[in-house]
Amino acid sequence: MQKGNIGVTTENIFPVIKKFLYSDHEIFLRELVSNAVDATQKLKTYASKGDFKGELGDLTVRVSLDKEAGTITISDYGIGMTAEEIDKYINQIAFSGANDFLDKYKDDANAIIGHFGLGFYSAFMVAKKVDIITRSYQEGAQAVKWSCDGSPEFTLEDAERAERGTDIVLHIDDDCKEFLEESRISTLLNKYCRFLPIAVAFGKKKEWKDGKQVDTEEDNVINDTAPLWMKKPQELKDEDYKKFYRDLYPMSDEPLFWIHLNVDYPFNLTGVLYFPKIKSNIDLQKNKIQLYCNQVYVTDSVEGIVPDFLTLLHGVIDSPDIPLNVSRSYLQSDSNVKKISTYISKKVSDRLQAIFKNDRKEFEQKWDDLKLFIHYGLLTQEDFYDKANKYTLFKDTDGKYYTYEEYQTLIKDNQTDKDGNLIYLYANNKEEQYSYIEAALAKGYNVLLMDGQLDTALVGMLEHKFEKARFTRVDSDVVDRLIAKEDDKKADIEAGKEEILSSVFTSQLPQINKVEFHVEAHSLGENASPILITQGEYMRRMKEMANLQPGMAFYGEMPDMFNLVLNVDHKLIKSVMTDTDQAIEAELSPIEAELRGLNARQAVIEQAQKDKKADEITEAEKNDLADVEKKIADEKSKKEAVISKYAAGNKVVHQLIDLALLQNGMLKGEALNNFVKRSIELI
Ligand code: ADP
Repeated sequence: MQKGNIGVTTENIFPVIKKFLYSDHEIFLRELVSNAVDATQKLKTYASKGDFKGELGDLTVRVSLDKEAGTITISDYGIGMTAEEIDKYINQIAFSGANDFLDKYKDDANAIIGHFGLGFYSAFMVAKKVDIITRSYQEGAQAVKWSCDGSPEFTLEDAERAERGTDIVLHIDDDCKEFLEESRISTLLNKYCRFLPIAVAFGKKKEWKDGKQVDTEEDNVINDTAPLWMKKPQELKDEDYKKFYRDLYPMSDEPLFWIHLNVDYPFNLTGVLYFPKIKSNIDLQKNKIQLYCNQVYVTDSVEGIVPDFLTLLHGVIDSPDIPLNVSRSYLQSDSNVKKISTYISKKVSDRLQAIFKNDRKEFEQKWDDLKLFIHYGLLTQEDFYDKANKYTLFKDTDGKYYTYEEYQTLIKDNQTDKDGNLIYLYANNKEEQYSYIEAALAKGYNVLLMDGQLDTALVGMLEHKFEKARFTRVDSDVVDRLIAKEDDKKADIEAGKEEILSSVFTSQLPQINKVEFHVEAHSLGENASPILITQGEYMRRMKEMANLQPGMAFYGEMPDMFNLVLNVDHKLIKSVMTDTDQAIEAELSPIEAELRGLNARQAVIEQAQKDKKADEITEAEKNDLADVEKKIADEKSKKEAVISKYAAGNKVVHQLIDLALLQNGMLKGEALNNFVKRSIELI
């Protein structure tokens, strides 16, 4: 028997492995099974080249558990190792500068293991002792046993092994007993080894016999050795892609479509990406793209490798050219990785364009499910926009689809305002904005439906991209003013009358938390609604954007501002005006007279003080002005009180306000109840 020290320059690497790699303990299984697979593939290569002339036989890699002995064994029938090879490949590992490196990447087991070619030693993350029993494929080779208990000392001795190949026996540490559970190992094999290229068996297939699960003779093979992405697209049918998708994501709906990736120059990459049908955000969080390296599962966090907006896709990417043993930040600056990311983005864009060109109907049918991905891409990636804007669609409230260019042609004649801006009208809720949409359509306008999660941001972007274009939600103004064709027509009434009318309504508006109204009068024609609520585009959009960005809480806290528009051409508003006039004229005229006097006096005083410097104005003069101002304020509040008292008893005013609120979903609770009661009385 031979004894020796493993060539570790650091004092003792094993406690370090264990401590630093704690969170990723489970990858030991991936490392050992892939070593077994590699050894088997090497043998197959030798056989094909004639360097190995024996029988290949059953090459299945076997993983087995012995709970009583507390061991996991990974067995293969690959090339095996001679004593010299063990010495070379296992004993002499060079950990130069290990401490620094470990410190830097302590949270990233992939980086550490990759960096040191440390695959085999990851066994010590879970084992207190590891045995290798191996016999080389070379003729007449002597089987050997290597043992190590986690200290730098090992033993190496001759052993018995009837056939070529290797058994790795892990004596599981007491604090890692979970890895002796069948279900745990089964889950890990399924995660990491599911698509390895050599059959991997975990125990035997089971069947029900006499009310019990018993082993059959048949190996329980856990992997698919020839996964779909490794095959040629020409050999595959749609059904194959769909089946593969179901296998990967059993709970998901059928995908919209897929893209088979296949490059071998200037880097190697294969894979299949699926556009999923998203039912909920959970689909996006749980079902992710899986990254493989030669069919070995690596990770499902592909940020940096796949462009941001495509991380929402599902499927598999397999590339030996992605440096997995480096940190994430390094990954993003790696030129190969950049090329891969650009390639994937281009492929996706080309595929979308092809579907759009060849089967526009299908493209339109899938658009509603697709748009989230495309919008995300438009917003986050400049070069994607440059291509995708040719096939990105608008959908109008009638369910018709247009490309950006088609839509521009459609609305150019009718929806250009007096300053030459093209006005895109949109709704984001067909039900809630029904009356506004109807009004706009009746005027011959087209209205887009923009009800996606990203539409607010998209609208902002398109206003920058398109020349002379503005997006306006249909309820942001009265229909006549949505697209300003001529200079504004003011309400056709005297200023004094308008002020009283405004006060009548303002005084009766309900208090709604975080909502403010501004009442204004317009001439909208006798057939238009007597009253309606609009919300200015600019402030509303600022608030919506604020809600998307947590940092902008300031805007989010501001009240919602609405306009209550009174149509002075409508007979109901006209009658409110005449009724008010008659009812309060007697009470109001002395106040008005008083106000006129006070206003005149104020003007005189101000005129007198206008040309004086601040220190030339006497105390008496200052008091004089303050006195007039206070009196004006008093008279005004008297006037308001008179109007408010009258308006409080005017059922038409209340009914009109409530109808406007109701139409916008703002009439609730007690106010709604009062409205119902009043309506019944009126009937
Ligand atoms: P890597 O696989 O990255 O080279 P490992 O530490 O996992 O690093 O393995 C070191 C070497 O030990 C391998 O390159 C291989 O030559 C040898 N080896 C490991 N496991 C086996 C096995 N099951 N059969 C034959 N050789 C093996």
